[in-house]
Amino acid sequence: MNLHQKNCLVTGGSRGIGKSIALTFARLGANVAITYARSSEAAEKVVEEIQAAGGKGLAFQADAVDFNKAEEVINEIVKQWGALDVLVNNAGITRDNLILRMDEKAWDDVITTNLKSIFNYSKAATKPMMRARGGSIINISSVVGISGNAGQSNYAASKAGIIGFTKSFAKELASRNIRANVVAPGYILTEMTEQLSEKVLDAIKQETPLGRAGEADEVSNTVAFLASDLSSYITGEVIRVDGGMAM
Ligand code: NDP
Repeated sequence: MNLHQKNCLVTGGSRGIGKSIALTFARLGANVAITYARSSEAAEKVVEEIQAAGGKGLAFQADAVDFNKAEEVINEIVKQWGALDVLVNNAGITRDNLILRMDEKAWDDVITTNLKSIFNYSKAATKPMMRARGGSIINISSVVGISGNAGQSNYAASKAGIIGFTKSFAKELASRNIRANVVAPGYILTEMTEQLSEKVLDAIKQETPLGRAGEADEVSNTVAFLASDLSSYITGEVIRVDGGMAM
């Protein structure tokens, strides 16, 4: 598998799963741009690692909820590299609480960051991908978007929304050879899951047939497959990377 000649953008590429996707793409021969919200230093280090792997790298401080910024970022990539072939919508947050205690801001922040962002970047990517006569978009959802989870109604709604959006997008853009797929991770070790208590983590492991947490690289390998030409006949699909959790 390789991503030679592919110009890629990963939102939320400064840490966690997004960083792992960016570095996996670079190792497979791609040029990789990342966005981030606050972690400038971490983002610059990711760019250095992309360049060390032999690819071109770019980092943009760009709040994923900002509609106009998405177009600016993608236009700049096309200006510098000539095309955008792969978009990974990965940026996401959690603001967990039971519905009875959840305030409006926690609902709005999660829906806009996790779901509106996917519309912003997918829409902005459509024109350059149509000009290039093809492209691959991979949206990072979650098993919680398939099964639901107490205490995560906002997050589950955003992640289920991603699946509906992706299937609609895939149907609209298939005739232009633009594919769109979803990767739905289970419990993956990153800063996002560091906040969970030991008790919750043990319960998650017990619910996971493979009996362990996943590594970020196990998600990025699947994303790389969907970005590559090896998956050229796959669109509108949801692939769980969850150790069997939502089986
Ligand atoms: P992390 O919290 O480790 O990293 C989140 C990344 O998203 C960071 O790069 C962060 O940038 C960026 N980000 C957050 N908010 C914004 C924003 N408003 N604009 C731009 N970038 C933003 O999360 P994970 O790596 O764990 O998660 C990545 C994706 O995978 C998310 O969509 C998450 O929902 C999903 N996922 C994760 C699972 C897990 O178990 N970890 C399970 C299922 C799905 P900065 O560094 O600047 O804050």
